[in-house]
Amino acid sequence: MYPFDRLVGELDLPRDMGGSALFDVMLVLQNNEQAHLRLGDLELVPENLPVASSKFDLTFTFKETPTGLHADIEYSTDLFKADRIERMFGHLEALIQSVLADPNRTIDRLDILPEAERQLLLHDFNDTRAEYPLDKTIVQCFEAQVAQAPDRLALVFGDTCLTYRALNEQANQLAHHLRDVYKVSPDDVVALQLERSEWIVIAIFGVLKSGAAYLPIAPEAPKARAAYMLADSKAKLLLADAATEATARDIAPGLPVLALEPMAREIAAKSPLADPEPLAGTRNLAYIIYTSGSTGQPKGVMIEHRSLVNFANFAVQAYGFSPKDRVLQASTYTFDTSVEEIFTTLLSGAALFVIEQETLLSTDGFLRFIMEKQISILDLTPALLATLNRAELPSVHTIITGGDAADRGDVVFYSQKKRYINGYGPTEGTVISNVYEVDASQLADMSSIPIGKPNANTEGYVLDDFGQLQPIGIAGELCVSGLGLARGYLNQPELTAEKFVPHPFQPGERLYKTGDLARWLPDGNLEFLGRMDHQLKIRGYRIEAGEIEQALLSHPSVSSAVVVGHGSGGDKQLVAYLVAQAGQALPESMELRSFLGQTLPHYMLPGYFVEMEVLPMTTSGKVDRKALPAPDASAIGTGSEYVAPRNAVEAQLVSIWEQVLGREGIGVEDNFFALGGHSLRALRVLSLIQQRLASQIKLGS
Ligand code: ADP
Repeated sequence: MYPFDRLVGELDLPRDMGGSALFDVMLVLQNNEQAHLRLGDLELVPENLPVASSKFDLTFTFKETPTGLHADIEYSTDLFKADRIERMFGHLEALIQSVLADPNRTIDRLDILPEAERQLLLHDFNDTRAEYPLDKTIVQCFEAQVAQAPDRLALVFGDTCLTYRALNEQANQLAHHLRDVYKVSPDDVVALQLERSEWIVIAIFGVLKSGAAYLPIAPEAPKARAAYMLADSKAKLLLADAATEATARDIAPGLPVLALEPMAREIAAKSPLADPEPLAGTRNLAYIIYTSGSTGQPKGVMIEHRSLVNFANFAVQAYGFSPKDRVLQASTYTFDTSVEEIFTTLLSGAALFVIEQETLLSTDGFLRFIMEKQISILDLTPALLATLNRAELPSVHTIITGGDAADRGDVVFYSQKKRYINGYGPTEGTVISNVYEVDASQLADMSSIPIGKPNANTEGYVLDDFGQLQPIGIAGELCVSGLGLARGYLNQPELTAEKFVPHPFQPGERLYKTGDLARWLPDGNLEFLGRMDHQLKIRGYRIEAGEIEQALLSHPSVSSAVVVGHGSGGDKQLVAYLVAQAGQALPESMELRSFLGQTLPHYMLPGYFVEMEVLPMTTSGKVDRKALPAPDASAIGTGSEYVAPRNAVEAQLVSIWEQVLGREGIGVEDNFFALGGHSLRALRVLSLIQQRLASQIKLGS
């Protein structure tokens, strides 16, 4: 006999007002004989009194009765809704039946789902069959659109305007040239290293029409990274432009480089304008996009024509693109949001407006571009949308965000007057696997913005650690299957086999394990709950912490390294925690950054480096990421000396930077832009500066 309060006191448990001290769930079995009580003539019968508040999160009470076991669940209505508890009864019943049917079954094989819920999860929520021209390649789909309205505007960049016919003919000429001179054939890879311009779109279609697959490489990619991708993909040649030609030749000596701009005279003069005979089939590769890899090198995701055709046809329908639309092309072509922008637009007869990089990076310029070009559809990461500061955007009727969790405030604002679509999906599932169209009238009841239902010819499953279906409302790993699935990772059969597993519910098919935590909502929409591993999203960029950690470990002074994301939304930053090699000092942060910059792209460079004596460990011996200190106070210095503001304007500038970066002690000679990862916040700084100091200083670009 031990008084409960004393037990709690002596165990010295951390007290949390949000829960009970020792346990949250209670199970009671009432198996006492029900005595028949009488007081003289008075008969006593039990009466259930109304319960005003629950003692625990959940209390299960079982009573043995002559007709069987009777169960009651008392639950906290702050935590559970009635429909969830009703489903829980069903799960309990299914579980008991499953135990009784086969008492020797191991626990992980026991069934928790009643047949009706299983049917819902497997079939009703995944009833996505749609008829698309899946016997055609993306090239044939595009050519059909060209034939339908050749004189419609297809592509605009700066002063260049191309009709569907003109775009098609330029792509045809390039395709003939690639075939004739470089002998490219299906499943060959042609790499592109191009600045943002109309040439990106011409080159993509030129490569696809030649029969090969395209591989986009960022013009500013570190040389080592670009060289790795070219070698890994065995690219047959590299297409460059005037600005990138020199770098391109330097990256992979020996690899043919073809500079497109202006389209090489030989191509323009000799190549036919007509559509080349199709060589590639629907199961040949359309593109390879490299994403961050946890083991230290990026990995190439291989997407086939069939997946792209399915996705683009679905997107045209789901987003409602029409020939009247003017679509912004803002995404970098190394990310698959660009695939969505380019192919969805050009399969629907709409016009694609490629924005200049400098315009995109200036808040005012970006807004002006949208207004002047009368853009009607925006497709952005939530972080980029945020830079528009909730402007009215009168010409825009549809906003699509994807790649990262949508910002609730922006969703509430924009969905009042426009369609707002939240797209979710990994590159491995061809751009997106799910979409959710926001219904502004329902936002008040939603705790988060759902990621929606599986796309056409795509299925979603939420599985537990044993590969069993999780019931509605219960978190598990989101897995996807269907036509969007990539062929796999290039040259990585083991990783491919680990992530693309045999489909447990459709024999012969594959299932991609996203590593995302999600749950089904009762109406068949999915809710995103976070990552199960150390993959991060910083302003829409997909980053494996492991890739940065490996790069840090290759520095001779570093003995251990852990990288985490700190903060949330647009303010999330990469923080590296480092332990120095015995007897050595860690370099200043500037030096670490330039060391990492040799192999990693700018968006993977940590904003803070923190030196640790040792890394905190969990009891199971893993690094305890939650126990790492906040970075601000303890970060390693930049190596440059603090210079205090010297006049009123500098003082004002410094205070704006400090306010926006949430950091103190900023000096006037710190090079903020070199801190990297801050570029979007730098934009906010610039717009604040413009607002506040417009009359005092003139800002350069
Ligand atoms: P994309 O940028 O095309 O979405 P990536 O392969 O770069 O694809 O990143 C995929 C990952 O990004 C997902 O696994 C998920 O973690 C995250 N993600 C993508 N879309 C969303 C979304 N709408 N909400 C929350 N997370 C998302």
